[in-house]
Amino acid sequence: MQIGQGLGFKRERIELEPCPICKGKAVVQGISYERICTDCNGSGWVVLGSRLVLSSDELVTQLSFKLQQAQREIAVLQRGPSTSGLDKYYQQSNRRGAGGSNYTGD
Ligand SMILES: [Zn+2]
Repeated sequence: MQIGQGLGFKRERIELEPCPICKGKAVVQGISYERICTDCNGSGWVVLGSRLVLSSDELVTQLSFKLQQAQREIAVLQRGPSTSGLDKYYQQSNRRGAGGSNYTGD
């Protein structure tokens, strides 16, 4: 499988899902110790759908994308739950208002 060919300089975002073997914990519990989960290369993540394991260097990049996305979501949540929802609401009603006034202007 060739990943990222024909996409220029932009790296492909690969959708990941928690590893079903270790349930996303990256380690599995032995009798008296934890060992690295080999089914997900110790990352806790596998490719969504195919459950393939990414190579270490590809994994680093994809986990970085995932972490950046998570940090953006955390930043939104830390600003408070009301603001982002209200922004969306006002943008939609503004668009509707402008279209409506054009239509009934004549
Ligand atoms: Zn695993």
